[in-house]
Amino acid sequence: MTYIEPAPIKDKENPLESMMSRFDKAAELLGISDEMYHILKMPRKQVVVGLPVTMDNGQIKVFEGYRVIHSTILGPSKGGIRFDMGVNIDEIRALAAWMTWKCAVVDIPYGGAKGGIACNPREMSAGEIERLMRAYTTAMLNVFGPDEDIPAPDMGTGPREMAWLMDEYSKAKGMTVQGVVTGKPLVLGGSLGRTEATGRGVTVSALSAMEKMRINPYRATAAIQGFGNVGMYAAALLHERGVSVQAISDISGGYYNSNGIDIEAAMAYRNANGGMLEGYTGAEKITNEELLSLPVDVLVPAAKEDVITHENAADIQAKMIVEGANGPTSASADDIINSKGIMVVPDILANAGGVTVSYFEWVQNRIGYKWNLERINRRSDRIMKDAFENVYATSQKYKVNMRLAAYIVAIDKVASTYKFRGGY
Ligand code: GLU
Repeated sequence: MTYIEPAPIKDKENPLESMMSRFDKAAELLGISDEMYHILKMPRKQVVVGLPVTMDNGQIKVFEGYRVIHSTILGPSKGGIRFDMGVNIDEIRALAAWMTWKCAVVDIPYGGAKGGIACNPREMSAGEIERLMRAYTTAMLNVFGPDEDIPAPDMGTGPREMAWLMDEYSKAKGMTVQGVVTGKPLVLGGSLGRTEATGRGVTVSALSAMEKMRINPYRATAAIQGFGNVGMYAAALLHERGVSVQAISDISGGYYNSNGIDIEAAMAYRNANGGMLEGYTGAEKITNEELLSLPVDVLVPAAKEDVITHENAADIQAKMIVEGANGPTSASADDIINSKGIMVVPDILANAGGVTVSYFEWVQNRIGYKWNLERINRRSDRIMKDAFENVYATSQKYKVNMRLAAYIVAIDKVASTYKFRGGY
């Protein structure tokens, strides 16, 4: 097959549908006008490109790439690039809007965007991925820019891909432009703390929620789904703060140990095993579904969208869900989870630590100066804590759950900024 077909658009449990249903509820509670509703709903720009790339065997494959800019009301648009077979335009639209709300919740001066390519990087060589990334960057030269639209890593991409993006963009501009992308390797102007930033923010969110629920972290247990950029660091940091992480998982399945997993050992194993937990012996093997229904205090879904749905929500026994992934809970599960009294720290709050340190990276690139790790961690922890308290206070004020409160904070901020800026 020479054309890599994007994932079909689902009519059910679709991330765009989930995002819109929460947006609709919050917009109604806030009482925003019909006009404002439509202004905030419609993405500003949606770019679809065809990317012919020569594979190692000499054959040309054509990939479909996307970049959706949902909003630039608060500032240049910001958001990652996803390489995954599940990518399609609807998913990218939802993820772009989530970036708008996320940046607004943590009060950083960015709008929201997302990009993606339907591909399976696990089955591609480094050279093939590099050519694909460079082709995508060239196709997006008029979209990206340090003052326009600033990409970053997401599922399936990391510092290596961001380095190729920066290099390709810089070549086209005839000068080094560090601020065009964040999540870069340190030597190319990346920021200290960026790799762990999302997991660190998840930890701050989980500890803040434990404080509200009067759960002592030293007596708490956690299960973490996903052991990549987000889950692995969330596991390590929660463990460091006294929480017993009883279960972890990746695409090879779940791993459970009632005495707590030795996270350092699991990380070392994964890193020496091609980024996979497959074969890890420090725990009992369980399924991903079993992990989701463990009777732990904290459940951190840190893998992908729609893993908690109306079909399995009733089985969840955790006291709180801290969403490390974007959209891990589909809207169809919200009512079931609420009725069980489970506290949810929603994605647009809980995983905002990543984009917060991306913002610090961009600021450092612009001022041409490097901050130390202590400063970055202190500032990002403060931003995450303040955002949590603001969303919590909003949930009390409107008598709604944390998810709706986060949307209320975000929509209110973007709508009121728009009113000052005005339209045509
Ligand atoms: N992809 C990450 C997210 O979904 C980070 C985005 C960024 O740093 O711009 O939040």
